[in-house]
Amino acid sequence: MSETIVEKASGASAALHGLHRIFRKPIIRVPAMALVMLAIFVFDTLTDLEIATAVFYIAVVLLAIGRFAGRYVIALAAACVVLTLISFFISKTGSREAGLVNLAISVSTIAITTYLGLKMVAAEGAAHAARAQLIRVARVTSLGELAASIAHEVNQPLAAIATSGDTALRWLSATPPNVDRARSALVRVVEDASRASTVLARVRDHARGDPPALRLIRVDDVIEEAVELSGGELQRHAIAVQLALADALPTVLGDRVQLQQVVCNLILNAIEAMAQVPPSRRSLTIAAMVDVNGDVEISASDTGIGIRDDHLARLFDSFFTTKEGGTGIGLTISRTIVEAHGGVMWVDRMKPHGARFHVRLPAHAAAA
Ligand code: ADP
Repeated sequence: MSETIVEKASGASAALHGLHRIFRKPIIRVPAMALVMLAIFVFDTLTDLEIATAVFYIAVVLLAIGRFAGRYVIALAAACVVLTLISFFISKTGSREAGLVNLAISVSTIAITTYLGLKMVAAEGAAHAARAQLIRVARVTSLGELAASIAHEVNQPLAAIATSGDTALRWLSATPPNVDRARSALVRVVEDASRASTVLARVRDHARGDPPALRLIRVDDVIEEAVELSGGELQRHAIAVQLALADALPTVLGDRVQLQQVVCNLILNAIEAMAQVPPSRRSLTIAAMVDVNGDVEISASDTGIGIRDDHLARLFDSFFTTKEGGTGIGLTISRTIVEAHGGVMWVDRMKPHGARFHVRLPAHAAAA
């Protein structure tokens, strides 16, 4: 007896396997499914109402899941339900009550199988995407990521050095040479160079695992310095910055250079977002205030090209960039820095255009 069951089971499994192979070929898939549905329908209609043949429709649904888009699977399941109902109404033989119970069982089985199957496929898709992302991140972690982050962090002061150096040369080659202006451009070169070297020292500390240099910091100082450091780029793009810094901001406990990097990155991104709009429409406001919980909130609002709906959730993902030659790690690094300071970072869109980035940091002590 048990041997017969085993034989039957292996026969059924071989049949299902064969069916799977047939269904893999797209040209055969649709007519074959239609044929199976028709067979189930004929059998369901011709047999007694007590026999719940319609539950076999779930085989069709299961074979469709993962091979067709979700909406087609739902349409197919709906067609199976309709066929089950037609069979019930035109079947002549068997008890009506038993038929009604079987109808309810078949319809709910089809519906539940469709729902769970589609959910499973969606979960598999999400797991697959997460795995792909993990592999990508793992591949570039350590050396690659470190190199990219050094390149990114040092790029800003280097660009500023090049701009100021250029300016100094122009003032010196003017007739007569304007030594005062050349000198102040060279002062900026020295400042930027020392900033680049501080960044490199910090990255070295990072690699060694040294903790960040936490000090009590005035947020308005950080913002003003970041604006000053980005002065060359702002001027080059004819962007005037409005500062809206609240009086008596509380101090925060943080790493000055890292927080400066965050603000510089926001400014740089704003400049790039506004490079594509006419100069008369370019405006950047950097604000700092105390929020209802007493925390410090910094925001950078621009009137640039703004953020597309489908990009909004991906902006802070590593390597997400819409720029030619972009690294897509500026916002990732910024958010890591802000979170390491116990803060949060987010973005929302400005009306009618532009973006506003927010950084909230826990206040250390209320300002005097
Ligand atoms: P990158 O600047 O190298 O692309 P980021 O991580 O700094 O890397 O930025 C990621 C993406 O976020 C950008 O490519 C851009 O699409 C978007 N983005 C950042 N800031 C802004 C902004 N102010 N306005 C519009 N889009 C922005």
